[in-house]
Amino acid sequence: MADSQYNVIIIGGGVVGLGVALEITRRFPKLRLLLLEKEDRVARHQSGHNSGVIHSGVYYKPGSMKARLCVSGAAAMVEFCREHGVAHEVCGKVIVATLPDELPRLEELRRRGEANGLVGLRMIGPDELREIEPHATGLQALVVPSTGITDYARVCEKYAELIAGNGGTVLTSVAATGIRRMPGEIVVESSKGAFSAGAMINCGGLFSDRISRMAGDDPGVMIVPFRGEYYDLIPERATLVRSLIYPVPDPQFPFLGVHFTRRITGTVDAGPNAVLALAREGYRHSDINVRDLASSLAFPGFWRMARRNWRNGFDEFRRSFSKPLFVRALQRLVPEIGESDLVPGGAGVRAQALKADGALVDDFQFVPSGKVLHVLNVPSPAATASLAIGKAIVATAAASLSLA
Ligand SMILES: Cc1cc2nc3c(=O)[nH]c(=O)nc-3n(C[C@H](O)[C@H](O)[C@H](O)COP(=O)(O)OP(=O)(O)OC[C@H]3O[C@@H](n4cnc5c(N)ncnc54)[C@H](O)[C@@H]3O)c2cc1C
Repeated sequence: MADSQYNVIIIGGGVVGLGVALEITRRFPKLRLLLLEKEDRVARHQSGHNSGVIHSGVYYKPGSMKARLCVSGAAAMVEFCREHGVAHEVCGKVIVATLPDELPRLEELRRRGEANGLVGLRMIGPDELREIEPHATGLQALVVPSTGITDYARVCEKYAELIAGNGGTVLTSVAATGIRRMPGEIVVESSKGAFSAGAMINCGGLFSDRISRMAGDDPGVMIVPFRGEYYDLIPERATLVRSLIYPVPDPQFPFLGVHFTRRITGTVDAGPNAVLALAREGYRHSDINVRDLASSLAFPGFWRMARRNWRNGFDEFRRSFSKPLFVRALQRLVPEIGESDLVPGGAGVRAQALKADGALVDDFQFVPSGKVLHVLNVPSPAATASLAIGKAIVATAAASLSLA
């Protein structure tokens, strides 16, 4: 027997679950909404361990959900921060080509950015690059003026406050442990008892595939955890970087390559790399979870991905254990940077969906199943896009989830 009755239950108190919840409570103020988060506060995982960048949308394939929701989401995020007093700054960034074979890829980024509707993109040479970032060098750079920075943990706290103000309920320290689908009702078993609702949205991040299975669905993908490790620039050397300096990304991978990011607090960090983690919430090298590891190794797509990407994976692994190798990657962008300028910083773990054929899912993926919706792939730029993701999900699923 369920303890409570809600119209909709959302599992996961990260920026995506909260973004969806905020949109639902705004659009349908009479609905009874419950959000469950297993940790003692919101944004304890990806949403509180990221680079804090409000991405512009320059990287993503025109027409993809990532492209559309990043561009509209970035504008909405800046407006949200402005309206609610969350610290942010539209500081712009430079993407720097340091090798001749990166020049056509940089040009392709400019084309993509323009196709995605970005304004103000411009190519510059080394002299102008030095005027913007005096310590950066490269053959050519793309200036992306609409990129910004914020603190997504603060954004999430504000989302949660607004959801509560709109009449929704956010319960922390409550882990969903089972899902029963009954006629006309979904019962979510949890560490604090059972809750029932007419519909459910799975925004479980690193565990979204397992939650999908808990609900009796086959997610068709496995979430692979990729740890991103950072170094911090020591305060005396933070002046080496004015805002954000990025390399030209390798188009084979969904990650952007180690870069320099100025945080909204004024500190500068370098990273993140992308190393296969041995636990879904494995923030340190020593974190190993046997169940997570066994499920990865048992998934056929994992071995196909490993075969395809072993060289890159091996390089990332070496760089994760070797500060000199990490610094060498950074020196391509800022040659003056030295090992003594950097101290170990934090880490985040990305939830990346992997298909059985070994391909990483590129776009955002939302999978409906009756009165349940699974948000299965929302890697970067999903923090930027969170308000737009909320709107897109409500627009497409309000009827099937009986929200409207
Ligand atoms: C290193 C790194 C850098 C990044 N940089 C950027 C950036 O600069 N800009 C950007 O836009 N994006 C960035 N991203 C991506 C962005 O952070 C993520 O796309 C976004 O945070 C995903 O949000 P989420 O709500 O899906 O996941 P999460 O924040 O992980 O939230 C999922 C939540 O579900 C909870 N949960 C899981 N299982 C259960 C359960 N059974 N019961 C209850 N709760 C449960 C978890 O505790 C967690 O809080 C970065 C990510 C990483 C890791």
